[in-house]
Amino acid sequence: MFVAAALLFATPADLLVINAKIWTDGALSQNTVLAVRNEKVTYVGKSSKGLRGPKTRVVDAKGRIVTPGIIDAHTHLARAGVGFKYGLDLRVANSKEQFIELVRKKVATLPAGAWLSGRGWSTESYKVKETPHRDWIDSVTGDRPAVLTRMDGHSLLANSAALKLAGITKDGPADPPGGSIERDPKTGEPTGILVDAAMPLIQTPPPSRLQLREGLKAVVAEANRFGVTAVGDIMDPLALSTVREYAANPARSIRFGVYLQFESPMVVGMATEAKPIPGWFEPRGIKLYMDGSLGSRSAYMAAPFSKPLPTQPADWRGLPRIGATNGLYAQLIKSAADANIQVITHAIGDQANKDALDLYAKVPGLARRRFRIEHAQHLLPSEIGRFAKLGVLPSMQPFHKADDGRYCDDVIGKDRSRSSYTFRTFLKSGAKLTFGSDFPVVTIDPWIGIHTAVTGEILGGSIWMPEQNISFDQALDAYTRTSAYAIFREKDLGRLVPGYQADFVILEGSPYQKNGTNNLRPAATYVAGRKVF
Ligand SMILES: [Zn+2]
Repeated sequence: MFVAAALLFATPADLLVINAKIWTDGALSQNTVLAVRNEKVTYVGKSSKGLRGPKTRVVDAKGRIVTPGIIDAHTHLARAGVGFKYGLDLRVANSKEQFIELVRKKVATLPAGAWLSGRGWSTESYKVKETPHRDWIDSVTGDRPAVLTRMDGHSLLANSAALKLAGITKDGPADPPGGSIERDPKTGEPTGILVDAAMPLIQTPPPSRLQLREGLKAVVAEANRFGVTAVGDIMDPLALSTVREYAANPARSIRFGVYLQFESPMVVGMATEAKPIPGWFEPRGIKLYMDGSLGSRSAYMAAPFSKPLPTQPADWRGLPRIGATNGLYAQLIKSAADANIQVITHAIGDQANKDALDLYAKVPGLARRRFRIEHAQHLLPSEIGRFAKLGVLPSMQPFHKADDGRYCDDVIGKDRSRSSYTFRTFLKSGAKLTFGSDFPVVTIDPWIGIHTAVTGEILGGSIWMPEQNISFDQALDAYTRTSAYAIFREKDLGRLVPGYQADFVILEGSPYQKNGTNNLRPAATYVAGRKVF
């Protein structure tokens, strides 16, 4: 044992990081030197003696903090690529006028007849909080079909041309189970807003292979820019071949844990049969959806919303997805457990969370399977402790708190808001709190999410629910060591110790100073010992 360790120590490194403050395992260490050989960390300590050979590249961290690469447990990179590279981003719009102006500008750049696709709108921070209507954009889009998805991905605005192509008129079709076609209460005409299961009624033309490839490259670069080196990516089975091809290329710069999303009994077989590329493309399991979102009021609540949308009835308590009620998910969870793959389930509303835990609780040997609940956002107080007890991981997106915090008190009332985004309570209960972004619903930037989790600061600058604030160390741990566990990579990712993959970030900024999480950003990102940003 001693001999092997001594030999390792005497071997010159490929890459040597000096003058660093190494952060790992939930704390800043006293170590200042990190050595990499053959894509892995071979040494972490205080001296570079014997590690510097003639070919060793030396990086001076200049006293900055070096952290493990960020592992974002919940992304939609494969799905987001094309929209990110080619689509219209409406997140920057702050008013109806800006919204329309952005659409007008984008339309001017598109070839005749091409669809306009966009995403990211949310009118919650507009001065006038009205829901968009097809009238907003019809005059600037003309005969060109347009589909603009809301920020949370749970509703969309279609223009009249797109509605016409889909055959949606005042006479029909009826709302599909788990979805709704919003209609003018007087005329019955569709407003252009389609929610959840009604969204696929609009069939946009599929992207080309080249667009898929280029789109994926663009979102991976975006991830690397923010220090993200591995993801738990939720994708359609159709995206598998593009992502796998990317991961097989030596120029790859992110590691994929893959979760398949497909409402069919076939999905378990697809996830089991997808061929891994060890270290880079590892199919992990399947993703289910219990409900919708808070913004679209399609989260499934135990009691009615305090403030439903104007088009919803007063006793509205959201929508359970059809698979949650017709037995499909119970069947999928059982076959996933039989096949020994992971299940991760989207649940936002308190009833949706309870129902998901109830479904999971029937599975034998549940804790070792690391089943997750995605978002785990609004909870009945009685349910919070069940996560730790059952060994179910709350997989949360701290930056969503910054968005929802603006209107949560209003929409579900102050009482129920108190058991929302319970980061601190989860940690106290012993649950394995895991962080991610939910990109492209919001930015993939983990540092802004960490800032939200640490300070409780929400969009617009006020502080919301600070009693659930956690420390910087806890937040970064949820984005590294615990999220590695959440995608079954805790044996080689999420820590900076010998034997682990050399995925790391040189961090600009000092999180331990007052207001220190305000401006954190990577100065450089490394994957497998290679600089990717
Ligand atoms: Zn998501």
